[in-house]
Amino acid sequence: MAEKMLYHVKEHKHTAGVIKDVMDSERYHTLLKERVTVGSQVLNHKFFEDPHDVVLGLSTDGFAPFRRRTQTAWPIVLFNYNLPPEICFHLEYVLSVGVVPGPKKPHDMDSFLWPLIQELHRLAIGVHAYDALSDEFSALRAYLLLVFGDIPAISMVMCMKGHNALSPCRMCKIRGVRIPGSSNPIHYVPLCRPHHPDADADPAFVEVYDPAHLPLRTHGEFLRQAEEVQMAPSEAKAARLAKQYGIKSIPLLSTLSSLSFPVSFPYDFMHLIWENVVKNLMQLWTSQYKDLNTGVEDYEVNPTVWEAVGEASAASGDTIPGIFGPHPPNVTSDKMSWTAETRSFWFQYLGPILLAGRFTHRKYYTHFVLLVRLLCKCLQFELSADDLAEICAGFIAWVEEYERYFIRIYYQHDLQRLSACPVTVHALLHITDSIEATGPVWASWAFPMESLRINFVLGPHIHQLASRYPDYQIIHVYLFLHVTHSH
Ligand SMILES: [Zn+2]
Repeated sequence: MAEKMLYHVKEHKHTAGVIKDVMDSERYHTLLKERVTVGSQVLNHKFFEDPHDVVLGLSTDGFAPFRRRTQTAWPIVLFNYNLPPEICFHLEYVLSVGVVPGPKKPHDMDSFLWPLIQELHRLAIGVHAYDALSDEFSALRAYLLLVFGDIPAISMVMCMKGHNALSPCRMCKIRGVRIPGSSNPIHYVPLCRPHHPDADADPAFVEVYDPAHLPLRTHGEFLRQAEEVQMAPSEAKAARLAKQYGIKSIPLLSTLSSLSFPVSFPYDFMHLIWENVVKNLMQLWTSQYKDLNTGVEDYEVNPTVWEAVGEASAASGDTIPGIFGPHPPNVTSDKMSWTAETRSFWFQYLGPILLAGRFTHRKYYTHFVLLVRLLCKCLQFELSADDLAEICAGFIAWVEEYERYFIRIYYQHDLQRLSACPVTVHALLHITDSIEATGPVWASWAFPMESLRINFVLGPHIHQLASRYPDYQIIHVYLFLHVTHSH
Protein backbone atom coordinates (compact mmCIF):
# COMPACT_ATOMS: atom_id res chain seq x y z
CA MET A 1 0.00 0.00 0.00
CA ALA A 2 2.77 2.47 0.98
CA GLU A 3 4.52 1.69 -2.30
CA LYS A 4 1.34 2.16 -4.33
CA MET A 5 0.72 5.52 -2.67
CA LEU A 6 3.92 6.90 -4.18
CA TYR A 7 2.37 6.66 -7.66
CA HIS A 8 2.24 10.44 -8.11
CA VAL A 9 5.91 10.78 -7.10
CA LYS A 10 7.34 7.85 -9.03
CA GLU A 11 5.06 7.41 -12.04
CA HIS A 12 3.01 10.52 -12.63
CA LYS A 13 4.90 13.21 -14.53
CA HIS A 14 3.29 16.60 -14.75
CA THR A 15 3.56 18.31 -18.13
CA ALA A 16 2.59 21.99 -18.19
CA GLY A 17 -0.70 22.47 -20.01
CA VAL A 18 -1.67 18.79 -19.92
CA ILE A 19 -4.38 17.43 -17.61
CA LYS A 20 -4.44 13.71 -16.89
CA ASP A 21 -4.78 13.54 -13.12
CA VAL A 22 -5.78 15.72 -10.16
CA MET A 23 -2.06 16.48 -9.68
CA ASP A 24 -2.17 18.39 -12.98
CA SER A 25 -4.99 20.67 -11.81
CA GLU A 26 -4.67 24.40 -11.11
CA ARG A 27 -5.96 23.96 -7.58
CA TYR A 28 -3.26 21.40 -6.73
CA HIS A 29 -0.52 23.63 -8.16
CA THR A 30 -1.87 26.68 -6.35
CA LEU A 31 -1.78 24.76 -3.07
CA LEU A 32 1.81 23.66 -3.69
CA LYS A 33 2.82 27.33 -3.26
CA GLU A 34 0.69 27.99 -0.17
CA ARG A 35 1.43 27.43 3.48
CA VAL A 36 -1.12 25.33 5.36
CA THR A 37 -3.54 27.19 7.61
CA VAL A 38 -5.55 25.64 10.43
CA GLY A 39 -7.96 28.10 12.03
CA SER A 40 -6.03 31.35 12.41
CA GLN A 41 -2.69 29.57 12.60
CA VAL A 42 -0.39 29.63 9.55
CA LEU A 43 1.86 26.56 9.74
CA ASN A 44 5.44 26.32 8.52
CA HIS A 45 4.84 23.69 5.87
CA LYS A 46 3.21 24.01 2.45
CA PHE A 47 0.50 21.78 1.01
CA PHE A 48 1.80 18.52 -0.49
CA GLU A 49 5.45 19.47 0.07
CA ASP A 50 6.22 15.98 1.37
CA PRO A 51 5.82 13.16 -1.19
CA HIS A 52 3.94 11.19 1.45
CA ASP A 53 1.24 13.89 1.81
CA VAL A 54 -2.12 12.39 0.84
CA VAL A 55 -4.52 13.95 -1.70
CA LEU A 56 -8.11 13.18 -0.75
CA GLY A 57 -11.53 13.58 -2.37
CA LEU A 58 -14.78 13.55 -0.40
CA SER A 59 -18.13 12.33 -1.67
CA THR A 60 -21.58 11.76 -0.28
CA ASP A 61 -24.91 10.78 -1.75
CA GLY A 62 -28.28 9.56 -0.52
CA PHE A 63 -29.29 6.03 -1.40
CA ALA A 64 -32.26 3.84 -0.57
CA PRO A 65 -31.04 0.63 1.09
CA PHE A 66 -34.45 -1.06 1.00
CA ARG A 67 -36.62 -2.13 -1.89
CA ARG A 68 -39.46 0.25 -0.97
CA ARG A 69 -37.06 3.20 -1.38
CA THR A 70 -38.88 5.29 1.22
CA GLN A 71 -35.82 5.67 3.43
CA THR A 72 -32.34 6.94 2.61
CA ALA A 73 -28.91 6.66 4.16
CA TRP A 74 -25.94 8.89 3.36
CA PRO A 75 -22.45 7.34 3.22
CA ILE A 76 -19.55 9.78 3.70
CA VAL A 77 -16.62 8.51 1.69
CA LEU A 78 -13.00 9.52 1.06
CA PHE A 79 -10.98 8.62 -2.05
CA ASN A 80 -7.20 8.48 -2.02
CA TYR A 81 -5.70 10.07 -5.15
CA ASN A 82 -2.15 9.12 -4.20
CA LEU A 83 -3.00 5.68 -5.54
CA PRO A 84 -2.77 4.97 -9.28
CA PRO A 85 -5.98 6.06 -11.08
CA GLU A 86 -6.80 2.52 -12.13
CA ILE A 87 -7.21 1.38 -8.52
CA CYS A 88 -8.00 4.48 -6.45
CA PHE A 89 -11.77 3.86 -6.72
CA HIS A 90 -11.63 0.14 -5.98
CA LEU A 91 -13.67 -0.81 -2.94
CA GLU A 92 -10.67 -2.06 -0.98
CA TYR A 93 -9.06 1.42 -1.14
CA VAL A 94 -12.15 3.49 -0.39
CA LEU A 95 -12.31 5.06 3.07
CA SER A 96 -15.86 4.95 4.32
CA VAL A 97 -15.74 7.35 7.25
CA GLY A 98 -19.40 7.24 8.21
CA VAL A 99 -22.99 6.69 7.20
CA VAL A 100 -25.73 9.14 8.12
CA PRO A 101 -28.54 6.73 8.93
CA GLY A 102 -31.53 8.67 7.65
CA PRO A 103 -34.38 7.81 7.21
CA LYS A 104 -34.55 11.19 5.45
CA LYS A 105 -32.02 13.66 4.08
CA PRO A 106 -29.87 14.91 6.99
CA HIS A 107 -31.33 18.05 8.52
CA ASP A 108 -27.87 19.28 9.54
CA MET A 109 -25.19 17.57 7.44
CA ASP A 110 -22.44 19.69 9.01
CA SER A 111 -23.08 18.05 12.37
CA PHE A 112 -22.27 14.67 10.77
CA LEU A 113 -19.20 16.07 8.99
CA TRP A 114 -17.79 17.63 12.16
CA PRO A 115 -15.77 14.59 13.41
CA LEU A 116 -14.24 14.17 9.93
CA ILE A 117 -13.33 17.84 9.71
CA GLN A 118 -11.69 17.74 13.13
CA GLU A 119 -9.61 14.81 11.93
CA LEU A 120 -8.72 16.61 8.69
CA HIS A 121 -7.50 19.56 10.76
CA ARG A 122 -5.26 17.19 12.73
CA LEU A 123 -4.04 15.63 9.48
CA ALA A 124 -3.24 19.10 8.07
CA ILE A 125 -0.97 19.71 11.07
CA GLY A 126 0.52 16.21 10.84
CA VAL A 127 -0.03 12.92 12.64
CA HIS A 128 2.88 10.89 14.01
CA ALA A 129 3.08 7.81 11.76
CA TYR A 130 5.41 4.98 10.81
CA ASP A 131 6.58 4.76 7.20
CA ALA A 132 7.12 1.08 6.35
CA LEU A 133 9.18 1.92 3.26
CA SER A 134 11.83 4.05 4.96
CA ASP A 135 11.46 2.33 8.37
CA GLU A 136 11.13 5.77 9.96
CA PHE A 137 8.57 7.76 11.90
CA SER A 138 7.36 10.99 10.29
CA ALA A 139 4.42 13.40 10.19
CA LEU A 140 1.66 12.03 7.99
CA ARG A 141 -0.41 14.77 6.39
CA ALA A 142 -3.54 14.64 4.25
CA TYR A 143 -5.63 17.34 2.59
CA LEU A 144 -9.01 17.44 0.92
CA LEU A 145 -8.61 18.61 -2.69
CA LEU A 146 -12.15 18.22 -3.98
CA VAL A 147 -15.69 17.33 -2.96
CA PHE A 148 -18.20 15.74 -5.32
CA GLY A 149 -21.65 14.20 -5.62
CA ASP A 150 -24.95 14.94 -7.31
CA ILE A 151 -26.28 18.50 -7.31
CA PRO A 152 -28.60 18.16 -4.24
CA ALA A 153 -25.85 16.51 -2.17
CA ILE A 154 -23.29 19.18 -3.01
CA SER A 155 -25.81 21.97 -2.46
CA MET A 156 -26.26 20.48 1.00
CA VAL A 157 -22.57 20.38 1.95
CA MET A 158 -22.00 23.85 0.43
CA CYS A 159 -25.06 25.14 2.36
CA MET A 160 -26.66 26.36 -0.87
CA LYS A 161 -30.35 26.61 -1.71
CA GLY A 162 -30.05 24.29 -4.70
CA HIS A 163 -30.64 23.95 -8.40
CA ASN A 164 -34.21 25.30 -8.50
CA ALA A 165 -33.43 28.51 -6.61
CA LEU A 166 -33.12 32.08 -7.87
CA SER A 167 -29.30 31.74 -7.86
CA PRO A 168 -29.16 28.07 -8.78
CA CYS A 169 -25.61 27.66 -10.09
CA ARG A 170 -22.83 27.02 -7.60
CA MET A 171 -20.16 28.15 -10.05
CA CYS A 172 -21.63 31.49 -11.18
CA LYS A 173 -24.13 34.16 -10.20
CA ILE A 174 -26.51 33.70 -13.15
CA ARG A 175 -30.07 34.54 -12.10
CA GLY A 176 -32.78 31.99 -12.71
CA VAL A 177 -36.15 33.06 -14.13
CA ARG A 178 -39.59 31.50 -13.72
CA ILE A 179 -42.08 30.80 -16.47
CA PRO A 180 -44.25 33.95 -16.71
CA GLY A 181 -47.82 33.41 -15.58
CA SER A 182 -47.05 29.91 -14.24
CA SER A 183 -47.30 28.57 -10.68
CA ASN A 184 -44.19 26.42 -11.33
CA PRO A 185 -41.74 27.60 -8.60
CA ILE A 186 -38.61 26.39 -10.42
CA HIS A 187 -36.13 28.94 -11.77
CA TYR A 188 -34.58 28.16 -15.15
CA VAL A 189 -31.32 29.49 -16.54
CA PRO A 190 -31.30 30.20 -20.28
CA LEU A 191 -28.49 32.49 -21.38
CA CYS A 192 -31.02 34.67 -23.16
CA ARG A 193 -34.26 35.84 -21.49
CA PRO A 194 -35.30 38.92 -23.47
CA HIS A 195 -38.44 40.78 -22.39
CA HIS A 196 -38.92 38.65 -19.27
CA PRO A 197 -41.38 40.42 -16.91
CA ASP A 198 -38.76 40.34 -14.07
CA ALA A 199 -36.71 42.86 -16.06
CA ASP A 200 -39.19 45.65 -15.26
CA ALA A 201 -38.88 45.19 -11.48
CA ASP A 202 -35.11 44.71 -11.33
CA PRO A 203 -32.76 47.32 -12.85
CA ALA A 204 -29.87 44.83 -12.51
CA PHE A 205 -31.70 42.21 -14.58
CA VAL A 206 -29.44 40.71 -17.28
CA GLU A 207 -31.30 39.91 -20.51
CA VAL A 208 -28.43 38.07 -22.20
CA TYR A 209 -25.50 36.33 -20.50
CA ASP A 210 -22.27 35.85 -22.43
CA PRO A 211 -21.41 32.12 -22.09
CA ALA A 212 -17.70 32.90 -22.46
CA HIS A 213 -17.80 35.44 -19.59
CA LEU A 214 -20.23 34.17 -17.00
CA PRO A 215 -20.27 36.08 -13.67
CA LEU A 216 -18.23 33.50 -11.76
CA ARG A 217 -18.39 33.20 -7.99
CA THR A 218 -15.13 33.62 -6.09
CA HIS A 219 -14.04 32.06 -2.79
CA GLY A 220 -13.89 35.39 -0.97
CA GLU A 221 -17.25 36.59 -2.21
CA PHE A 222 -18.91 33.22 -1.52
CA LEU A 223 -17.81 33.25 2.11
CA ARG A 224 -18.62 36.96 2.57
CA GLN A 225 -22.15 36.31 1.31
CA ALA A 226 -22.49 33.22 3.51
CA GLU A 227 -21.41 35.30 6.53
CA GLU A 228 -23.78 38.11 5.60
CA VAL A 229 -26.69 35.63 5.56
CA GLN A 230 -25.66 33.96 8.82
CA MET A 231 -25.10 37.26 10.65
CA ALA A 232 -28.24 38.97 9.30
CA PRO A 233 -30.06 40.92 12.06
CA SER A 234 -33.41 39.25 11.40
CA GLU A 235 -34.75 36.03 9.93
CA ALA A 236 -36.53 37.97 7.21
CA LYS A 237 -33.27 39.67 6.17
CA ALA A 238 -31.43 36.35 6.24
CA ALA A 239 -34.11 34.75 4.05
CA ARG A 240 -33.96 37.63 1.56
CA LEU A 241 -30.16 37.48 1.33
CA ALA A 242 -30.18 33.67 1.08
CA LYS A 243 -32.60 33.91 -1.84
CA GLN A 244 -30.47 36.55 -3.54
CA TYR A 245 -27.15 34.71 -3.10
CA GLY A 246 -28.39 31.13 -3.23
CA ILE A 247 -26.40 30.52 -0.01
CA LYS A 248 -28.03 29.59 3.31
CA SER A 249 -25.17 29.72 5.82
CA ILE A 250 -21.41 29.33 6.32
CA PRO A 251 -20.44 25.78 5.30
CA LEU A 252 -18.33 23.88 7.83
CA LEU A 253 -16.11 22.66 4.98
CA SER A 254 -14.93 26.28 4.55
CA THR A 255 -12.79 25.76 7.68
CA LEU A 256 -10.51 23.54 5.57
CA SER A 257 -7.94 25.79 3.92
CA SER A 258 -7.25 23.25 1.16
CA LEU A 259 -10.74 23.85 -0.29
CA SER A 260 -11.71 26.81 -2.43
CA PHE A 261 -15.37 27.70 -2.94
CA PRO A 262 -16.80 26.88 -5.43
CA VAL A 263 -14.01 25.48 -7.63
CA SER A 264 -13.24 22.56 -5.30
CA PHE A 265 -16.84 21.33 -5.86
CA PRO A 266 -16.97 20.43 -9.58
CA TYR A 267 -20.23 19.30 -11.17
CA ASP A 268 -20.30 15.51 -11.15
CA PHE A 269 -20.07 14.33 -14.76
CA MET A 270 -22.05 11.15 -14.15
CA HIS A 271 -25.19 12.80 -12.77
CA LEU A 272 -24.87 15.91 -14.90
CA ILE A 273 -24.44 14.18 -18.24
CA TRP A 274 -25.88 10.68 -18.09
CA GLU A 275 -28.61 11.21 -15.49
CA ASN A 276 -29.71 14.64 -16.66
CA VAL A 277 -28.60 16.19 -19.97
CA VAL A 278 -28.69 12.94 -21.97
CA LYS A 279 -31.80 11.59 -20.25
CA ASN A 280 -33.61 14.89 -20.90
CA LEU A 281 -32.55 14.93 -24.56
CA MET A 282 -33.92 11.43 -25.06
CA GLN A 283 -37.17 12.55 -23.41
CA LEU A 284 -37.34 15.61 -25.67
CA TRP A 285 -36.98 13.37 -28.76
CA THR A 286 -39.82 11.13 -27.58
CA SER A 287 -42.35 13.68 -26.33
CA GLN A 288 -41.81 12.79 -22.65
CA TYR A 289 -40.11 15.95 -21.35
CA LYS A 290 -42.19 18.00 -18.87
CA ASP A 291 -45.29 18.17 -21.09
CA LEU A 292 -43.32 20.31 -23.53
CA ASN A 293 -44.36 20.09 -27.17
CA THR A 294 -41.90 20.77 -30.01
CA GLY A 295 -42.99 24.41 -30.44
CA VAL A 296 -42.04 25.70 -33.87
CA GLU A 297 -39.55 22.85 -34.32
CA ASP A 298 -39.86 19.19 -35.28
CA TYR A 299 -37.12 17.44 -33.28
CA GLU A 300 -39.18 14.43 -32.16
CA VAL A 301 -38.29 11.05 -33.58
CA ASN A 302 -41.20 9.24 -35.19
CA PRO A 303 -42.53 6.68 -32.59
CA THR A 304 -42.30 3.81 -35.08
CA VAL A 305 -38.69 4.73 -35.85
CA TRP A 306 -37.94 5.02 -32.11
CA GLU A 307 -39.37 1.53 -31.54
CA ALA A 308 -37.08 0.15 -34.24
CA VAL A 309 -34.14 2.00 -32.62
CA GLY A 310 -35.11 0.38 -29.30
CA GLU A 311 -35.19 -3.10 -30.77
CA ALA A 312 -31.87 -2.58 -32.53
CA SER A 313 -30.35 -1.31 -29.24
CA ALA A 314 -31.43 -4.43 -27.35
CA ALA A 315 -30.33 -6.75 -30.17
CA SER A 316 -26.87 -5.12 -30.30
CA GLY A 317 -26.08 -6.55 -26.87
CA ASP A 318 -25.91 -10.07 -28.30
CA THR A 319 -22.78 -9.20 -30.26
CA ILE A 320 -21.06 -6.80 -27.84
CA PRO A 321 -18.59 -8.43 -25.41
CA GLY A 322 -19.73 -8.24 -21.78
CA ILE A 323 -16.57 -6.41 -20.70
CA PHE A 324 -17.95 -3.29 -22.41
CA GLY A 325 -20.74 -3.17 -19.85
CA PRO A 326 -24.24 -4.46 -19.20
CA HIS A 327 -26.48 -5.53 -22.09
CA PRO A 328 -27.94 -2.35 -23.71
CA PRO A 329 -31.67 -2.15 -22.95
CA ASN A 330 -34.45 -1.52 -25.43
CA VAL A 331 -34.75 2.29 -25.38
CA THR A 332 -38.53 2.20 -25.75
CA SER A 333 -39.76 -0.65 -23.57
CA ASP A 334 -37.11 -1.41 -20.94
CA LYS A 335 -37.12 1.64 -18.65
CA MET A 336 -35.89 -0.30 -15.60
CA SER A 337 -32.51 -1.19 -17.12
CA TRP A 338 -31.51 2.39 -17.82
CA THR A 339 -28.67 3.45 -15.59
CA ALA A 340 -25.98 6.08 -15.97
CA GLU A 341 -23.76 3.32 -17.31
CA THR A 342 -26.14 1.93 -19.94
CA ARG A 343 -27.13 5.43 -21.03
CA SER A 344 -23.47 6.42 -21.34
CA PHE A 345 -22.73 3.42 -23.54
CA TRP A 346 -25.82 3.88 -25.68
CA PHE A 347 -25.26 7.61 -26.20
CA GLN A 348 -21.60 7.32 -27.14
CA TYR A 349 -21.51 4.14 -29.17
CA LEU A 350 -25.01 3.13 -30.36
CA GLY A 351 -26.96 6.40 -30.65
CA PRO A 352 -24.81 8.04 -33.36
CA ILE A 353 -25.28 4.96 -35.58
CA LEU A 354 -28.90 4.13 -34.82
CA LEU A 355 -30.11 7.72 -35.11
CA ALA A 356 -28.30 8.61 -38.36
CA GLY A 357 -30.92 9.77 -40.84
CA ARG A 358 -33.73 9.27 -38.31
CA PHE A 359 -34.52 12.92 -37.47
CA THR A 360 -36.73 15.00 -39.73
CA HIS A 361 -33.92 17.57 -40.16
CA ARG A 362 -30.22 16.98 -40.17
CA LYS A 363 -29.54 19.90 -37.77
CA TYR A 364 -30.95 17.88 -34.83
CA TYR A 365 -28.62 14.98 -35.57
CA THR A 366 -25.64 17.31 -36.06
CA HIS A 367 -26.38 18.97 -32.72
CA PHE A 368 -26.63 15.58 -30.99
CA VAL A 369 -23.39 14.29 -32.52
CA LEU A 370 -21.57 17.47 -31.47
CA LEU A 371 -22.48 16.63 -27.87
CA VAL A 372 -21.25 13.04 -28.30
CA ARG A 373 -17.97 14.32 -29.69
CA LEU A 374 -17.54 16.76 -26.77
CA LEU A 375 -18.30 14.11 -24.17
CA CYS A 376 -15.84 11.65 -25.75
CA LYS A 377 -13.25 14.43 -25.73
CA CYS A 378 -13.87 15.07 -22.02
CA LEU A 379 -13.22 11.36 -21.38
CA GLN A 380 -9.78 11.32 -23.02
CA PHE A 381 -6.88 10.12 -20.84
CA GLU A 382 -4.96 13.32 -21.51
CA LEU A 383 -6.27 16.77 -22.27
CA SER A 384 -4.00 19.43 -23.77
CA ALA A 385 -4.68 23.16 -23.71
CA ASP A 386 -5.93 22.84 -27.30
CA ASP A 387 -8.32 20.04 -26.29
CA LEU A 388 -9.67 22.17 -23.45
CA ALA A 389 -10.13 25.17 -25.77
CA GLU A 390 -12.06 22.92 -28.17
CA ILE A 391 -14.25 21.55 -25.35
CA CYS A 392 -14.94 25.07 -24.06
CA ALA A 393 -15.88 26.47 -27.49
CA GLY A 394 -17.85 23.30 -28.28
CA PHE A 395 -20.05 23.48 -25.17
CA ILE A 396 -20.69 27.19 -25.75
CA ALA A 397 -21.77 26.43 -29.34
CA TRP A 398 -23.87 23.46 -28.21
CA VAL A 399 -25.73 25.37 -25.46
CA GLU A 400 -26.30 28.35 -27.77
CA GLU A 401 -27.68 26.10 -30.48
CA TYR A 402 -29.82 24.34 -27.88
CA GLU A 403 -31.39 27.70 -27.02
CA ARG A 404 -31.07 29.97 -30.01
CA TYR A 405 -34.01 31.16 -32.06
CA PHE A 406 -32.54 31.26 -35.52
CA ILE A 407 -31.24 27.71 -35.29
CA ARG A 408 -34.25 27.01 -33.12
CA ILE A 409 -33.94 23.73 -31.36
CA TYR A 410 -35.24 23.24 -27.84
CA TYR A 411 -35.77 26.55 -26.00
CA GLN A 412 -36.48 28.65 -29.13
CA HIS A 413 -36.22 31.84 -27.02
CA ASP A 414 -39.81 31.28 -25.98
CA LEU A 415 -40.39 32.14 -22.30
CA GLN A 416 -43.15 29.52 -22.13
CA ARG A 417 -40.48 26.92 -23.01
CA LEU A 418 -38.11 27.91 -20.15
CA SER A 419 -38.37 24.42 -18.67
CA ALA A 420 -36.08 23.27 -21.49
CA CYS A 421 -33.29 25.20 -19.69
CA PRO A 422 -32.58 23.56 -16.31
CA VAL A 423 -29.30 24.29 -14.56
CA THR A 424 -27.92 20.99 -15.88
CA VAL A 425 -27.77 22.37 -19.44
CA HIS A 426 -26.18 25.59 -18.18
CA ALA A 427 -23.63 23.59 -16.14
CA LEU A 428 -22.07 22.29 -19.37
CA LEU A 429 -20.55 25.76 -19.67
CA HIS A 430 -18.52 25.13 -16.49
CA ILE A 431 -17.05 21.75 -17.45
CA THR A 432 -13.85 23.12 -19.00
CA ASP A 433 -13.13 25.40 -16.04
CA SER A 434 -13.67 22.49 -13.67
CA ILE A 435 -11.29 20.19 -15.56
CA GLU A 436 -8.63 22.90 -15.39
CA ALA A 437 -9.35 23.63 -11.73
CA THR A 438 -9.66 20.13 -10.25
CA GLY A 439 -8.65 17.59 -12.88
CA PRO A 440 -10.25 15.07 -15.27
CA VAL A 441 -13.95 14.29 -15.11
CA TRP A 442 -13.29 10.75 -13.87
CA ALA A 443 -11.64 12.12 -10.71
CA SER A 444 -14.91 13.61 -9.49
CA TRP A 445 -17.70 11.57 -11.05
CA ALA A 446 -20.04 9.53 -8.91
CA PHE A 447 -19.61 6.11 -10.57
CA PRO A 448 -17.59 4.83 -7.57
CA MET A 449 -20.46 5.89 -5.31
CA GLU A 450 -22.79 3.73 -7.41
CA SER A 451 -20.48 0.76 -6.81
CA LEU A 452 -20.59 1.52 -3.09
CA ARG A 453 -24.37 1.78 -3.21
CA ILE A 454 -24.52 -1.75 -4.61
CA ASN A 455 -22.10 -2.89 -1.92
CA PHE A 456 -24.09 -1.28 0.90
CA VAL A 457 -27.36 -2.73 -0.34
CA LEU A 458 -26.18 -6.20 -1.30
CA GLY A 459 -23.38 -6.70 1.20
CA PRO A 460 -21.86 -10.18 0.78
CA HIS A 461 -23.59 -10.68 -2.59
CA ILE A 462 -21.46 -7.96 -4.16
CA HIS A 463 -18.91 -10.33 -5.63
CA GLN A 464 -21.60 -12.42 -7.33
CA LEU A 465 -23.05 -9.26 -8.80
CA ALA A 466 -19.67 -7.90 -9.78
CA SER A 467 -19.00 -10.95 -11.89
CA ARG A 468 -22.27 -10.39 -13.75
CA TYR A 469 -22.11 -6.59 -13.95
CA PRO A 470 -18.64 -5.15 -14.22
CA ASP A 471 -19.77 -1.72 -13.00
CA TYR A 472 -18.36 -2.89 -9.66
CA GLN A 473 -15.07 -1.79 -11.17
CA ILE A 474 -16.50 0.88 -13.38
CA ILE A 475 -13.27 2.82 -13.82
CA HIS A 476 -11.74 -0.27 -15.36
CA VAL A 477 -14.61 -0.60 -17.79
CA TYR A 478 -14.19 3.02 -18.81
CA LEU A 479 -10.47 2.72 -19.17
CA PHE A 480 -10.95 -0.42 -21.23
CA LEU A 481 -13.56 1.22 -23.46
CA HIS A 482 -11.35 4.16 -24.16
CA VAL A 483 -8.29 2.09 -24.82
CA THR A 484 -10.20 -0.14 -27.23
CA HIS A 485 -11.85 2.81 -28.97
CA SER A 486 -8.69 4.82 -29.33
CA HIS A 487 -6.75 2.07 -31.07
ZN1 LIG B 1 -23.15 28.92 -13.78
